[in-house]
Amino acid sequence: MISMTIDGRKIAGADTYDVVNPALGAVFASAPDCREAQLEEAMAAASTAFRNWRSEEAPRREALTRAAEIVAAHADELGRLVTQEQGKTLVNAVREVNGAAGRFRYAAGLEIPTDIVHDRDALRVEVWRRPYGVVAAITPWNYPVISAAGKIAAAVRAGNTVVLKPSPFTPLATLRLGELLREVFPPGVINVISGGDELGKAMIKHPAVRKVSFTGSIDAGKHIFAAAAPDLKRTTLELGGNDAAIVLDDVDPAAIAPRLFWGAFQNSGQVCSAIKRLYVHERVYEPLAAALTELARTVRVGDGLDPASELGPVSTEPQLRRVEELVADAKAAGGRIRVGGARTGSRGYFFAPTVFEDLPDHARLVSEEQFGPALPLLRFTDVDDAIERANATQYGLSGSLWSGSTERARALASRLDCGTVWINQHLVVVPAAPTGGHKWSGIGVENGAEGLLEFTQVQAVSLLRS
Ligand code: NAD
Repeated sequence: MISMTIDGRKIAGADTYDVVNPALGAVFASAPDCREAQLEEAMAAASTAFRNWRSEEAPRREALTRAAEIVAAHADELGRLVTQEQGKTLVNAVREVNGAAGRFRYAAGLEIPTDIVHDRDALRVEVWRRPYGVVAAITPWNYPVISAAGKIAAAVRAGNTVVLKPSPFTPLATLRLGELLREVFPPGVINVISGGDELGKAMIKHPAVRKVSFTGSIDAGKHIFAAAAPDLKRTTLELGGNDAAIVLDDVDPAAIAPRLFWGAFQNSGQVCSAIKRLYVHERVYEPLAAALTELARTVRVGDGLDPASELGPVSTEPQLRRVEELVADAKAAGGRIRVGGARTGSRGYFFAPTVFEDLPDHARLVSEEQFGPALPLLRFTDVDDAIERANATQYGLSGSLWSGSTERARALASRLDCGTVWINQHLVVVPAAPTGGHKWSGIGVENGAEGLLEFTQVQAVSLLRS
């Protein structure tokens, strides 16, 4: 069995839990279930390792560079685990792992700034960036490896140590990542444990933790924020989204349809920043709706390990039930299904790519995050109205504007209340771009120089020259 990593050692769980392959709808492996005593060991190891790890930058850069090489060298192995436990196609799983290697490489090259904010007469004031100490990192099931890598890379580059827990639905690739990183980082710098939500709660409460880095649902994010408050633990939250894409009247529908389709249906819609509401100007509505319907009808859905598959299953049984529930609600709310609308396949958690239209904005498929392969199309005639509807939500992760004129779309970008705005694209992610949510979609950012700074605290050092 793939083991946990605590203090640089291989730790098997005394207890285990089942891991399901969503393409089969059946258990295919098991994972260690971390006990309380093992959590204590992980926290103690991370606390001890912090004493040395915090001081020298060169070993941190070297370890991150080596981590990038090792992860890239194991991209196929890690990718297969991701496909089996999460469902996405092998091509996309390997891409995720290579993206994770890129996060390590990028962090190795980042500078931690020291600013001189005053230097006059005898007084000089420098602003340093110091690490916090032990970081509790908790990740979701949709992109397990790149989520873990992004947190680990920035946290350790800044000089922190990490105790990381993946989602109980997708623990395997992350545990294997921990095994690989044992060769690279000193004992205790990176600890990977696995278990359910209760283990996550125990991590947040633990007194050794000074910083929480969480990616997951808004509900869990709110609980975590409250649980971190009594100890004033610093908290970065990357939460759910309900991204609007707004298509203006001057686009070429045939040209943009594939980009819009994959912006919505990538990873079967299970992307925090996928297009989850598509607002289309009435002038281009029908040709665009027809093109998207055709793409949804012809895309090949199947087991991610089958090279012919372009989309895998929904990742978990509860998520499949949620998609079914929202689709049933959308039907009841008067929505019309252009394509899809039901489960497919004789086994596994497959759901046909679904396109809805004629839904009111208050239908749950429009107002809530569906996180699955069902997309509502919404008409508009006035762009001001479309922007208002896009913003009329507590979500604020990202959004996109689509126009034949990049400048026309750019001029509207600042009016979208969200952390990322894409123009004529959606879901294009680079490590240098800080990502974070407005409103309920999060607090703080990940990635980029700003994401690194989230793992540091300011120390102003004031020197009086004698
Ligand atoms: P989830 O919140 O159910 O679980 C995420 C992780 O948190 C898991 O490891 C889980 O065990 C743990 N957890 C749950 N409750 C906890 C608690 N009270 N205390 C501590 N840990 C707890 O989310 P999920 O279903 O795994 O992921 C899907 C959600 O994640 C979607 O809403 C998606 O939009 C969001 N997401 C956001 C981003 C982003 O960058 N903003 C990226 C990926 C996914």
